[in-house]
Amino acid sequence: MRVVLMVGNWKMHKTAAEAAALVEGLKPFVAGGRDLEVVVCPPFTGLAAAARALAGSAIGLGAQNLHWEKEGAFTGEVSAPMLVEMGCGYVIVGHSERRQHFGETDEIVQRKARAAVAAGLRPIVCVGESLREREAGTTFDVLDAQVKGGLRGLSGDSGIVVAYEPVWAIGTGRTATPAQAQEAHAFIRKLVEGLWSPAAAAATRILYGGSVKPDNVRDLMAQPDVDGALVGGASLDPSSFGKIVRFRG
Ligand code: PEP
Repeated sequence: MRVVLMVGNWKMHKTAAEAAALVEGLKPFVAGGRDLEVVVCPPFTGLAAAARALAGSAIGLGAQNLHWEKEGAFTGEVSAPMLVEMGCGYVIVGHSERRQHFGETDEIVQRKARAAVAAGLRPIVCVGESLREREAGTTFDVLDAQVKGGLRGLSGDSGIVVAYEPVWAIGTGRTATPAQAQEAHAFIRKLVEGLWSPAAAAATRILYGGSVKPDNVRDLMAQPDVDGALVGGASLDPSSFGKIVRFRG
């Protein structure tokens, strides 16, 4: 019942021209269909070019961040309605790089997620423990705080996506084992059920992120609570991301 969602997070890579070229390279791999959704998230400056290139294709568009206000004196920021106008359907919120380098707290994450939903965007709310937290045995406390803090005030029918991204697996080449991913995803789904309802939990997509590659995606996707992937490095290469998207073979 949950449609698989594969999201490419390009981070601070690709100019507008390169974004268009990457979308063109990816198109042949994405046939469309009701059992798979594919979304790319270029930097803000690449959104318009990517939107033009993916028009008419089965690939959707997302952004990597947003501000929680609709407009105002927030130099350098971009709002949810601006992203909607660009053609975005999704926005990544609370990525660990934003938490780490830009001081984003769970309070900020929930404000951003609420602003996204209010504008008609689906937020992809990222959560995940650091290596220190995993080694200290506090993974589930961290996930509990981040999920409850980030989703507070949101309702279960707003199409929110959660991405479990263990920080120690992002950009490191070190992937969580399928069993570790499943354990965390099942825990997150229980949290979502507690916040909302069993029906909302069953409908909420939980993505895994952290060094997903063509050769490990299949085993991760075989886990019952893994509903897709948030892919960084491997999404910058059309053939790698194409293989991930076509994990079913
Ligand atoms: C990410 O940026 O969300 C990510 C998971 O990166 P990578 O796939 O490169 O680990």
